[in-house]
Amino acid sequence: MPCCQNCGHQWSWGTTFKKIWTFKRTLTCPNCQVVQYVSKDARFKISLISTIIPLVLVPLIAFGFAAKSIVFVEFLLLGMFSLYMPNLYELTNEEEHLW
Ligand SMILES: [Zn+2]
Repeated sequence: MPCCQNCGHQWSWGTTFKKIWTFKRTLTCPNCQVVQYVSKDARFKISLISTIIPLVLVPLIAFGFAAKSIVFVEFLLLGMFSLYMPNLYELTNEEEHLW
């Protein structure tokens, strides 16, 4: 779970999950109210997994699975990833650029 780099407060899974779905570039610490940013490494991991999930479709389509099964597997993977995503978050005090 992410830990505030300003006050050291460890965010709960629920807090992190709610903050993720605000789709803001900044996240405010619920303890000290200081703005935090998602670290470069965390953003890289999240984008990598987000890219891999649609690739699961390729072998399913190649092996002729039914469309319903493919959609079910995709939603299942996206749901599992969404629930796991708070564990991947790491915070920084300053915004880190990807390049
Ligand atoms: Zn804090």
